[in-house]
Amino acid sequence: MLVTTDEILQHAHKNMYAVGAFNFSNMENLHAIVEAAEEMKSPVILAASQSAIKYAGLECMVAMVRVAAKNSSVPMALHLDHGTDYQTLIRCIANGFTSVMIDGSHHDLQGNIDVTREIVKIAHAAGVSVEGELGRLSGVEDQISVSEKDSIYTNPAEAKTFVEATGIDSLAIAIGTAHGKYKGVPKLDFDRLVEIKKLLDMPIVLHGSSGVPLDDLKKAVSLGINKINIDTDVRQAFTDGVHEVFEAKPSEYCIRKICGKGKEHMRKVVCEKIECFGSAGKA
Ligand SMILES: [Zn+2]
Repeated sequence: MLVTTDEILQHAHKNMYAVGAFNFSNMENLHAIVEAAEEMKSPVILAASQSAIKYAGLECMVAMVRVAAKNSSVPMALHLDHGTDYQTLIRCIANGFTSVMIDGSHHDLQGNIDVTREIVKIAHAAGVSVEGELGRLSGVEDQISVSEKDSIYTNPAEAKTFVEATGIDSLAIAIGTAHGKYKGVPKLDFDRLVEIKKLLDMPIVLHGSSGVPLDDLKKAVSLGINKINIDTDVRQAFTDGVHEVFEAKPSEYCIRKICGKGKEHMRKVVCEKIECFGSAGKA
């Protein structure tokens, strides 16, 4: 069944577990995520980025998710990941997404409040959940010094101001993760997470979670993270599956065999993450 992200995340927040938000850009990706969620009896968030929407088409993505949700017993939400384009945000809200992220993190605090509040007003009128972001996720190659931490990572007091001024349903925070592939092992600022969770008492979101050791993710969940975004790890798994097909048979041309193997690899990784996040059996 198709539900809002808020419905999924409020339960996760109250029961101290996290739900995976897995990115998809085609049918095989979607099937991999949904099959994994069903196997694990877990709620799941289907995340579409602006570039994925450009690639697959908004109507096509919504239609595929509606069919998947109708035929499934696990709660799932369709979520716009990193909405920065006003038109795309409105199109998603108006056309079947049950959740959007408005990413105003490149603005200063007041600018971020202004753009986020505007989207919350429209989205909530349509029954759609909103995720905001405060703080900046560094690039994977950036070295962050201790003095830089306070200007880049989420400031707990500012986070409280931001949430109260905007009315968002969940907040993405920066505590040391980055988008893309890590070269070393990221060091998460768990103390900051504890402080933010205590002050806000609401669903908290972690981006850039691919490549973060599962033990660190588990710890983050135990300290209050309720939504974990995974994009790079599932893309890599899908591509590994496709490579495996061509290594065994370079002349393979059956699309179903090629994409099917990609799907199989991706499904396994989604199951692993669900197990780690503690959402198995929560559907
Ligand atoms: Zn992200």
